Amino acid sequence: MQDREYWLSRLKEWGVLREGHFLLTSGRHSPGFLLFAPAFSLPKAAEELGRAIAERFAGKGIETVVGPAMGGVILAHEVARALGVRSIYAEKDGERMALKRGFSLRPGERVLVVEDAVSTGGSVQKVLRICEEARADIVGVGIIADRTAGKVDLGVPLQALLDLEVPSYPADDCPLCRAGQELTRPKA
Ligand SMILES: [Zn+2]
Repeated sequence: MQDREYWLSRLKEWGVLREGHFLLTSGRHSPGFLLFAPAFSLPKAAEELGRAIAERFAGKGIETVVGPAMGGVILAHEVARALGVRSIYAEKDGERMALKRGFSLRPGERVLVVEDAVSTGGSVQKVLRICEEARADIVGVGIIADRTAGKVDLGVPLQALLDLEVPSYPADDCPLCRAGQELTRPKA
């Protein structure tokens, strides 16, 4: 199994982990910013990430992998490819998420939920609710980066390829501002 240092260097190489001085949507400032689309734009990178998550859930009888759109769509596909099973995705439906496009889950179906990163766990929780309402059997949640340093509790087994808690600072008390580093507004 690849260690944290391995994934850190891959995420930098793929342009996922960007270092600098960023203005977050929350208004806080941060020395790091995560953008997963560049990795998913590289089929080999997406395949490697999917295979690594699949390995953590091998032999668990998973029948379907489900991810939230957009971040979880390609990842779910690649994890499912590695496991040799089906992949589907959930989409925004007002404040909730829903299965559209003819996708459904049946009672007892063994499901793995995947997402690129978890910070508050909000979108993963919405997908878990869909699985619960369908009375599917949730095997666990597989993510690339746990941004909560293991603090998030989703009520099901969670496997992350790496812990990646990036610090953030209030705009009026930021060491990067004090050091005179130029602030960038990432285009997410
Ligand atoms: Zn700053």
